[in-house]
Amino acid sequence: MDDSVRNTVILGSGCSGLTAALYAARANLKPLVLEGHEPGGQLSLTTLVENFPGFPEGIQGPQLIENMRQQAARFGAEYKTAHLVSADLSQRPFTLNLGKESLKTRTLIIASGASARWLGLPSEQALIGHGVSSCATCDGFFFSSKEIAVIGGGDSAMEEALFLTRFATKVTLIHRREQFRASKIMLDRARKHEKIQFLTDTVVDDVFDVSKQEVTGLRLRNVKTGAAWDFPTSAMFLGIGHVPNARMFAGQLDMDKDGYLIPRDYVFTKVPGVFASGDVSDRRYRQAITAAGTGCMAAMEVEKFLEAQGH
Ligand code: NAP
Repeated sequence: MDDSVRNTVILGSGCSGLTAALYAARANLKPLVLEGHEPGGQLSLTTLVENFPGFPEGIQGPQLIENMRQQAARFGAEYKTAHLVSADLSQRPFTLNLGKESLKTRTLIIASGASARWLGLPSEQALIGHGVSSCATCDGFFFSSKEIAVIGGGDSAMEEALFLTRFATKVTLIHRREQFRASKIMLDRARKHEKIQFLTDTVVDDVFDVSKQEVTGLRLRNVKTGAAWDFPTSAMFLGIGHVPNARMFAGQLDMDKDGYLIPRDYVFTKVPGVFASGDVSDRRYRQAITAAGTGCMAAMEVEKFLEAQGH
């Protein structure tokens, strides 16, 4: 890797970053993709993806990502494992501080995604993709005619619980408090649904059964009484929020109260030459196909920007 100024650096190797890489590579821009601590993004954490157009039988998330990676590489995209510590966007070329080294680039596409928030239990982490999921739209179908637990008390949890009633025989919504963050309308809808039951003041202490590589139940605890019990279920869906990976741009780019980048005209930021795509700037759709779509747009804008700058 030489230390000359790059035409474009793409931060993130999920489906938004890789789509941007494909388009930028085909425009002969030799993009450099920085792969962070979650290479492949959220798709690499899922199993079968059935809602990405073009795959009538569905495709495994990690395979879809690998295909995109190879497709962009075929046209000259380069990859580097690196963690962005900080960025100086105050002057062009921009300087990206990667810790032991730094990079200079004329344009930057921020496609660093949003990471699902997890409980952080070792058993939960071991069963991701085997009954533990953070995406009802992606994985709900696999639990048809089964009982499902949903964790959380916000709109995401209500939305997941309601969506999962299409498949499950019963959905139990487990929340750590008695009060809910969810909007009244979503909460009422969930409360009225005959398939949804609520367990409040309750936390998950363990997920069974790692040795079987499938979810068979949860160890629950009532935070007020301290009572603990085993709760049989076939799946645990987390709806406890997402954390956008944009903290390193605080003070330089516009963000909403939860840290999502606020794009203008789809992919522009307030800094000319810096674009945002995918989940880092999308709290509404959060789908693989929408992330790919804005990745494409960002790369096309990079091409126009560089052309206007005479590169
Ligand atoms: P949120 O509103 O921040 O709610 C997160 C929920 O997860 C809270 O109930 C929180 O509990 C719980 N939680 C967080 N960490 C936890 C942990 N470690 N263990 C157990 N529980 C934990 O997040 P969200 O539901 O994803 O919503 C984010 C934003 O998107 C909101 O503005 C929401 O309105 C919006 N949204 C809207 C829709 C819609 O309108 N259709 C759908 C989805 C999201 P506490 O309450 O105890 O903190």
